[in-house]
Amino acid sequence: MAQRIPATLIPGDGIGHEIVEATVAALDALGAPFEWDRQVAGLEGVKTANDPLPPATLASIRRTRLALKGPLETPSGGGYRSSNVRLREEFKLYANVRPVRTLIPGGRFDNVDLIVVRENLEGLYVGHELYVQIDDDPHAVAMATGINTRAGSRRLLDYAFAHAIALGRKKVTIVHKANIMKALTGIFLETAQNLYQQKYQGRVVMDTAIVDACAMKLVLNPQQFDVLVTTNLFGDILSDLVAGLVGGLGMAPGANIGADAAIFEAVHGSAPDIAGKGLANPVALMLAAATMLDHVKLCAEATQLRSGIDATLNVDKVRTRDLGGSASTGQFTQALLARLRGRDS
Ligand code: NAD
Repeated sequence: MAQRIPATLIPGDGIGHEIVEATVAALDALGAPFEWDRQVAGLEGVKTANDPLPPATLASIRRTRLALKGPLETPSGGGYRSSNVRLREEFKLYANVRPVRTLIPGGRFDNVDLIVVRENLEGLYVGHELYVQIDDDPHAVAMATGINTRAGSRRLLDYAFAHAIALGRKKVTIVHKANIMKALTGIFLETAQNLYQQKYQGRVVMDTAIVDACAMKLVLNPQQFDVLVTTNLFGDILSDLVAGLVGGLGMAPGANIGADAAIFEAVHGSAPDIAGKGLANPVALMLAAATMLDHVKLCAEATQLRSGIDATLNVDKVRTRDLGGSASTGQFTQALLARLRGRDS
């Protein structure tokens, strides 16, 4: 039997439990040797441990350096700070990698196969925000400060170029807004150009795009892109946009790669509108689990999982409601398990 791999499992909030259980069942069917340490975070952390990111959860990830995570709820406009952002900071998860490809042909776009690499620690997400009072209005003015560093940009860009080359990708597009935010995103563009000349020219093609034009081009002709690399906020927006090109958030996995740990998750949130109804599509988290298998060098199992998902969607045509089907989370999972178990027969 393969060596056990300790990993932290955070079911999270909303649909988290449903999609995490489905994903763990698929990993079990593959015989993946993860030794799960179950922990809480987000709203569930607040409810059960009075903390959206309890010390036990942090200690677990510090020990395993590997986690599979369901979505965590963050209150809007006030309340506690996002546990996702805190996890990124705590474990220096500087690269958010979001691969997106057409899984069901005949949708909006066929043959989409691109990766968004988003800087995860800097930019406008550093959380330096404040209100300025004028007269008796305490919220008369709102201000935010973004911070991008040359070192942080270089670390992310270095990872993105190397990852693109390792995956045999042909083109890396640097997405920015340096025409307006000349310093904040100019530093990212300048660092990319310097790094490319020093280290990557001739190994992969690099081009650049302004974020607004890039959004339009993605919607008109996404096949022209291969790997998109960008700063935090633009990456957050574009990775949801590209998920929409291939059937929605239910199909988009994400990996948070850092110096101290790697955390795998779906791009989507906790979907409170459908939580507990058996309607959630578990594919995004399952694809994140496939990336996690690749990360721990269980590449054959990763390929089996992706092929099983592909066959369940396209041969068995078992699909959840967000994909135009009628299957529940459980029915999709059972069909996938039958595929995965049948692989040896
Ligand atoms: P959301 O992604 O939860 O939902 C957006 C829409 O997509 C909803 O209609 C939802 O039903 C649908 N959807 C999402 N995932 C789906 C799935 N797997 N199957 C079928 N339909 C799915 O976004 P939101 O409503 O803006 O956010 C809800 C909560 O999730 C917020 O508290 C937010 O902060 C949090 N969130 C967490 C993460 C994370 O943990 N990584 C990411 C994004 C949002």
